[in-house]
Amino acid sequence: MRIVRFLANEKTHYGILDDQDQIRSLKAPPFEAVDYGEERFPLAEVELLAPCEPSKLIGIGLNYRDHAEETGMEPPKEPMLFLMPDTAVIGPGQTIRLQEASERIDYEGELGIVIGRPAFRISEEEAADHILGYTCFNDVTARDLQILDMQWSRAKGFDTFAPFGPWIETDIDPGALDIETYLNGERKQGSNTRQLLFDPFHLVHFVSWVMTLNPGDVIASGTPAGIGPMEHGDRVEVRIQGIGSLINEVASY
Ligand code: MG
Repeated sequence: MRIVRFLANEKTHYGILDDQDQIRSLKAPPFEAVDYGEERFPLAEVELLAPCEPSKLIGIGLNYRDHAEETGMEPPKEPMLFLMPDTAVIGPGQTIRLQEASERIDYEGELGIVIGRPAFRISEEEAADHILGYTCFNDVTARDLQILDMQWSRAKGFDTFAPFGPWIETDIDPGALDIETYLNGERKQGSNTRQLLFDPFHLVHFVSWVMTLNPGDVIASGTPAGIGPMEHGDRVEVRIQGIGSLINEVASY
């Protein structure tokens, strides 16, 4: 099932997208249950938004061995967490804004894990029951500021630095998905979620022993090797097997 959130007739809706590119509206957010409404919309006639509204976004640093190597850092022994504000969220088709404070702003293609049921101190075995589904995430990073600052709130926290979407795919095994990032059509990152040091179930378990995860919260599970900068006018695509493509334009303010 593909869960979308979208604007139509000046209203925000949740819906389910079918394989004919038709959306059936939902009466309420899809976390407790999927309760269909009466309205239907063709995908081509709506504006997709980020597919949920997280109360918080958790990033995972250095979760692919090859990416840890390219940064010259040791792979961590436990998941390395950082937080992003909800104001950084944008949806598919929205614009990533370059920042005057940074001279190098990178894409990081990642598998996003979307929480469905509250998760407080859960086991790894229980984690699947608390995950609603998966999405494409671009963990946009001001690389120079990440190196300069003692922690990453600024480098990861600018408005527009947390694009995710285009939808939440609920029927997918996250264990072996191809993940790629394209910049202006050129393939820059290519890996598989098999290469994750800590898999999504371990991450949800681990984070839930630090902070309660709420429905709609998103964990960005880390990026593989191949990070690089974006420029004004670029088009960046995070493509994940079985989910789809998150595409955003890049522009200065
Ligand atoms: Mg990242």
